[in-house]
Amino acid sequence: MSQVEDFLTDQEEQFIVDAIIQAERNSSGEIRVHIEEHTIKQPFERAQEVFQFLQMDQTKNRNGVLFYVGVSDHSFVILGDKGINEKVEAGFWDQTKDVVVEHFKKGQYKDGLVKGVLKAGLKLQQLFPYDEDSDADELPNEISRG
Ligand code: CA
Ligand code: CA
Repeated sequence: MSQVEDFLTDQEEQFIVDAIIQAERNSSGEIRVHIEEHTIKQPFERAQEVFQFLQMDQTKNRNGVLFYVGVSDHSFVILGDKGINEKVEAGFWDQTKDVVVEHFKKGQYKDGLVKGVLKAGLKLQQLFPYDEDSDADELPNEISRG
């Protein structure tokens, strides 16, 4: 088994998908989690590449948020699209990242990601409230793997 497969059990993965669904229930924003083993690139640069690869830059309100995990690199990046980054206060992503990393350090990967996703979801709810007339699930809620 690769480290990526060992990173989360199927049940833990489902908890994270449920957190994404819950976060998106109250906002038009879109959250995705991507997990991969390793990259030779800088984590932030790689996260930007994944963001585009997953077509997260194609949402109507440019309010996608990517949680990128590099398992063997011990790297973690939260990347918001420009629509949300224009509105979110400075330091919010760093604060959210701190919450996640605090759990990662204890080996609590599922808890870290669930808390981070829900925290991002509350912010998305404030900045991009759910609009039942026009909102769609623009991006899949499943975890993607590199
Ligand atoms: Ca949506
Ligand atoms: Ca979605």
